[in-house]
Amino acid sequence: MDRPQISLDFAPELHLFVAGRRREGRSELRTDGTSTLGHIVESLGVPLTEVGTLLVDGRPVPDSHVPSDAEHVSVQGVARPQRSAAPLRFLLDVHLGTLTRRLRLLGIDAAYENPDIGDAALAARSAAEERVLLSRDRGLLHRRELWAGAYIYSHRPAEQLRDVLSRFAPPLAPWSRCTTCNGTLRTVTKTSVREQLRDGTERSYDAFAQCADCGQAYWRGAHHARLDAIVTDAVREFGARQ
Ligand SMILES: [Zn+2]
Repeated sequence: MDRPQISLDFAPELHLFVAGRRREGRSELRTDGTSTLGHIVESLGVPLTEVGTLLVDGRPVPDSHVPSDAEHVSVQGVARPQRSAAPLRFLLDVHLGTLTRRLRLLGIDAAYENPDIGDAALAARSAAEERVLLSRDRGLLHRRELWAGAYIYSHRPAEQLRDVLSRFAPPLAPWSRCTTCNGTLRTVTKTSVREQLRDGTERSYDAFAQCADCGQAYWRGAHHARLDAIVTDAVREFGARQ
């Protein structure tokens, strides 16, 4: 069988996944004539979690499309905000602890595994709980078992948070979730959490909450200025979508 020759181009946000010579406009590729476009794109290094619409000569095609000779393929990135088939829940890999706590601070369901349970177990948990796996590990995002996934571009927590909020537009509910364990917070009286408070705390604050899962007590106070700024910035930029 003749091996079709096709050409491809990739959206700029996908360039970091592909070889250098595929980053500048069209590049040629000889296929085996039987591989699907999804397989071809993945084999060039792009996790399918990062692929949006696939265009062949300007027409959208499914990733099961088998390219024929002389077709031109345009690989686009995911549209933002990206729609989710189920209520948004996340699972973060071991390197994303700070991002995990910031998502929880905004009330977003963010599971986290530390110590590392390994790629296979992470992918299995993503599938079992229908959680979007967030990772900077491309290999992990290539795993078949994943329910859904997203590559985190930046290594800086502030940029990581903006990336997730702009990509998925999750509903924000600040101060409703435990940043330690991901449990939900309930309002409680000062008396019921008194034994967890230092003297100054007990005198100064009246708004208290407690994690329904781990029992951690929370209160609003001056030491939250940095967290308040994270919440305020996120709500200002992304809260209006809800
Ligand atoms: Zn908790």
